[in-house]
Amino acid sequence: MSDPTSPEGVLRQRARARMKSGVLQTRNPVASYAGTGSGAPCVLCDEPIVKAEIEFELDFADTAAPSRVTIHMHFRCRTIWDAERAAFGCSAAPSSLPSL
Ligand SMILES: [Zn+2]
Repeated sequence: MSDPTSPEGVLRQRARARMKSGVLQTRNPVASYAGTGSGAPCVLCDEPIVKAEIEFELDFADTAAPSRVTIHMHFRCRTIWDAERAAFGCSAAPSSLPSL
């Protein structure tokens, strides 16, 4: 159904690749805020989130580090990330993941 060469297909593949490499989180954010774009780059598509767009700010409390990780994402990119995250969680073999 999804064309891998479409802009959305490219972002889906990038979401999976970035989750695999650990650049993108695979867990649920502890806090999520939506607002107008601040111009911050989106962690998925790397484009700045302009004022005319909805920006999601997602907080992850990292138990391994005292610092809190905050990422910024477009509304549409978050939708893609959420979908790919669900698929990623189901298909990943538990033995291939580092144990924490
Ligand atoms: Zn984006």
